[in-house]
Amino acid sequence: MSKDIDIFDKLKKGEYKFEYKHRIDVLTCTGCDNSYHLKIKYGDIRDIPEYCSYCGTKIGDDIRNALEENKVRVVENRKKEGEMYNQFKKDALEYVGLTDHPKADKIYAYAWEKGHSAGYHEVLNCLVDLYETIFKD
Ligand SMILES: [Zn+2]
Repeated sequence: MSKDIDIFDKLKKGEYKFEYKHRIDVLTCTGCDNSYHLKIKYGDIRDIPEYCSYCGTKIGDDIRNALEENKVRVVENRKKEGEMYNQFKKDALEYVGLTDHPKADKIYAYAWEKGHSAGYHEVLNCLVDLYETIFKD
């Protein structure tokens, strides 16, 4: 195992954990005064409707712009989260010295399946277990 990768230290510092900085705008439709249907939540990147789905009022540019902004932010968040995930995977495989193994992706996928519900730390533990059980000479 590589001692050059301070992966446990990075995990402790939360370097692979992306903090979502999304905004949930409470936007009020000028037509019906109802706002919940215009809230946009994290992950919601549906097309922005032209009309209020509740009362049919044309959605104003201010609301459209805010929703559009939020949509951009959601996509950026996902991209950053993806990059951090990829960095973790890269570091984790490097840590156990399996980066160039022909089945590296499969090995990682197995560790991910076993551990990800408990967090990256557990994924790494699973990977280390696999390494020590199967690959260590
Ligand atoms: Zn409305």
